[in-house]
Amino acid sequence: MINRDNLIAWIEALAQVYAENKQYLTQLDSAIGDADHGINMDRGFTAVKADLAKTNPQDVSAVLKTAAMSLIRTVGGASGPLYGTFFMRASAVCANKTGLNEADVVALFEAGLEGILQRGKAELNDKTMVDAQTPALNAMKQALADGADLKTILQKGTAAAEEGMKNTIPLQARKGRASYLGERSVGHQDPGATSSYLMLKTAADTLVG
Ligand code: ADP
Ligand code: MG
Repeated sequence: MINRDNLIAWIEALAQVYAENKQYLTQLDSAIGDADHGINMDRGFTAVKADLAKTNPQDVSAVLKTAAMSLIRTVGGASGPLYGTFFMRASAVCANKTGLNEADVVALFEAGLEGILQRGKAELNDKTMVDAQTPALNAMKQALADGADLKTILQKGTAAAEEGMKNTIPLQARKGRASYLGERSVGHQDPGATSSYLMLKTAADTLVG
């Protein structure tokens, strides 16, 4: 079972991962955006980590809600409200739970992605974070149905997210800033798909045990 401490370990690891990948994500965003995605993610998760330390939320739902509020407050840009919505929906689906089993964790990612889709209105292959998160969710659902343990579920999700992230390279952007470039957005990996892949990978590395 995943508890509050496991979720905090994941989110604190995310703060470190986005700090380490700040330049990489910003470089990706400089090709097809405004060169701030790494800065945004680093600023957001630094704030999440600080707010978790300050408010010390006691249950899984409250941890996720704190993350949502911090991201919405500090990130701005397209990705702030989208990741904020991800964590807000994740928090709602975990309400009243003391621990999360395999199905609960998959439900967390499903609710989060549904929030992103409703808020951002992107479709698959629009060259956004949705292109990493959708195959990740499908792979996790399949692994869950196959009876896999949580580590395996998250690893399958990570592999699918990585493939989805790479598959954004030949796509033309149809949502967000990159869409202003039209055909010139082709040939570049989407920054948000990359930060979403890192979110999955960090979950596989740190959420379990
Ligand atoms: P901004 O584009 O405002 O500078 P960021 O650079 O932080 O914000 O984030 C850009 C990323 O946000 C893109 O790479 C893309 O993955 C994601 N994105 C933008 N618009 C949408 C949308 N409508 N739905 C889903 N993801 C989106
Ligand atoms: Mg940007």
